[in-house]
Amino acid sequence: MNRFEIAQPQSVAQARELLAEKPGSVLKAGGIDVLDHLKEHLVEPPRLVNLKAVPGLDSISADPDGGLRLGPLATLAKVAASPEVRRSHAALAEACGEAASPQIRNVATLGGNVLQRPRCWYYRLESYRCLKKGGDVCYAVGGENRYNVIFGGGPSYAPHPSNAAVALVALGASFVLEGPKGTRTVPAGEFFVLPSRDAQRENDLQPGEVLTEVRVPPAAGARSTYDAVRERDGFDWPLVSVAAALKLEGRTVREARLVLGAVAPVPWRATRAEQALVGRPLGDEAAAAAARAATVGAAPLSDNGYKVGLVQSLVRRTLLGLA
Ligand SMILES: Cc1cc2nc3c(=O)[nH]c(=O)nc-3n(C[C@H](O)[C@H](O)[C@H](O)COP(=O)(O)OP(=O)(O)OC[C@H]3O[C@@H](n4cnc5c(N)ncnc54)[C@H](O)[C@@H]3O)c2cc1C
Repeated sequence: MNRFEIAQPQSVAQARELLAEKPGSVLKAGGIDVLDHLKEHLVEPPRLVNLKAVPGLDSISADPDGGLRLGPLATLAKVAASPEVRRSHAALAEACGEAASPQIRNVATLGGNVLQRPRCWYYRLESYRCLKKGGDVCYAVGGENRYNVIFGGGPSYAPHPSNAAVALVALGASFVLEGPKGTRTVPAGEFFVLPSRDAQRENDLQPGEVLTEVRVPPAAGARSTYDAVRERDGFDWPLVSVAAALKLEGRTVREARLVLGAVAPVPWRATRAEQALVGRPLGDEAAAAAARAATVGAAPLSDNGYKVGLVQSLVRRTLLGLA
């Protein structure tokens, strides 16, 4: 590992200055993903800028209208346990509470979770210069691809890894980003980037930008939940996950947002499944129709066709759970 310095900024402005001063510097929040990258020599920054030292970035509060403001440094454990989040935006609490292991959730942060890099093993192994690292091959295509994507792939097929992001897209959240050009707010649904636009990054975070707040609009009567299927019943990434947010009038679905995780390079909005739900009573029939619609357009690779059936079962199970 190359030698690098560790900076402890006391404010976001100072963090940005420290980033700008030494190009290639990297922000660290909980450090779970950053340390993996350092150990695998996937990044070799001259400086690590430790956001954990900035006071006040880990708060969670509810606005009078019921919207949430979450600091990016709030740990996954804190988000999962927050009464404000659990009361009105269960999908987010559940997504954070199911990620990784208790030890990791106590250190990993909401912002770091959303911005973590993909887990594709070809990307993670130093010896493979894949598309994500500036090479010209996605090794998953002709290789071991059972964990890769069935939607939105090409030219890279690495799946999106974050539990929290899937819930945040379903809840219509947005990200506040502070950078050299000022502050901007980007809807979570527009923040993540498909590899057809840029194979080397997964989101629209610009060089020098810091995620400073996550805003979630009021639930306004919508019910939400998150569920996932894993290979083992221990700490592991989901094979398939889903976050659902539904507004009901009696039993009839008035609005629906369904987002799939681990099946596409971004949190994947299942818009056809949403359409299959709206206007129908939430029950067996609507859940089965939405489950079928959720996989329209799926394009599995050689070894991950099983994800199609898993998506259908999980969508159905999740909707019936909400019903
Ligand atoms: C065994 C294991 C199992 C896991 N299982 C799951 C799982 O089931 N679901 C899941 O979602 N995750 C899982 N993870 C991943 C883990 O949750 C993430 O690595 C962690 O959430 C990252 O958060 P962090 O605070 O440690 O981020 P860091 O490692 O500190 O940062 C991650 C990235 O975000 C950038 N960054 C962080 N904060 C900011 C900010 N405020 N502004 C701009 N950039 C920023 C960093 O520069 C870095 O690129 C697992 C990890 C392990 C080791």
